[in-house]
Amino acid sequence: MAQLLLEGHPIGTIQGVLFDKDGTLSHSEPHLLDLAERRISAAVDLWSEIRGTPTKDLRQILSRAFGLQDGALNPGGTLAVAARQDNLTSTATVFCLLGCSWAEGLALAERCFNSVDQKLLGQLEPSPLLDHAATMLRNLHAGGVQLAVISNDTRLGIKNFLDHHAVSDLFNSSWSADDTPRKPDPQAVHQLCRRLNLEPEHCALVGDAETDLTMAHQAGIGCVIGYQGGWTLPPVLPSAPHLLNSWRDLDLSANP
Ligand SMILES: [Mg+2]
Repeated sequence: MAQLLLEGHPIGTIQGVLFDKDGTLSHSEPHLLDLAERRISAAVDLWSEIRGTPTKDLRQILSRAFGLQDGALNPGGTLAVAARQDNLTSTATVFCLLGCSWAEGLALAERCFNSVDQKLLGQLEPSPLLDHAATMLRNLHAGGVQLAVISNDTRLGIKNFLDHHAVSDLFNSSWSADDTPRKPDPQAVHQLCRRLNLEPEHCALVGDAETDLTMAHQAGIGCVIGYQGGWTLPPVLPSAPHLLNSWRDLDLSANP
């Protein structure tokens, strides 16, 4: 067991920490803003091609659906929090609002997302680690704490991110959008804890989304921490018993 310190104050005795990835370990906002713009442009172009007329409503509604706000991303919005499939469903719904059937809307959304994925294939470097995250991860690992990622990115996306930043060796396991059930189902936490051979009450979970934190509470996680330092607009996290703004502020006690 290790004593977790937040800004030097003890907040829990733990054996493992589960980390969300996007907006928690990863500085995801620039990449997600680029992805939103590409998907919106692809949707607008496709709509013009099929219907023969552009629609400014489509750009506006999709921007709102993805959570774009004055050039920044709502950290609690669909693009920041939800998996690709959820964003695809949102996009299909937007096409339905403009008069498509569900089958048409889904087919258009799939064409948009696939065309953007195709263009980005092999081009995209993983997002940077947030400041001081690498040092914090090494300190926790050195203190005997098991580390895991719980994310709605794909298994490959998580692996590429950890490999790119040379921190894979610090992590014992992960839970991705390829695992069932996906987060925010509390069973995702239970099954990840089982992989680590730890009880949820002996783990901390750090996330930047309210859905992460409510999932952690429902799963019986012992120490729930909201991370606010990863976005231009700090996420609103009413379920967080503890709030963290910089990875510099999380450490282990030297005297457990
Ligand atoms: Mg996140």
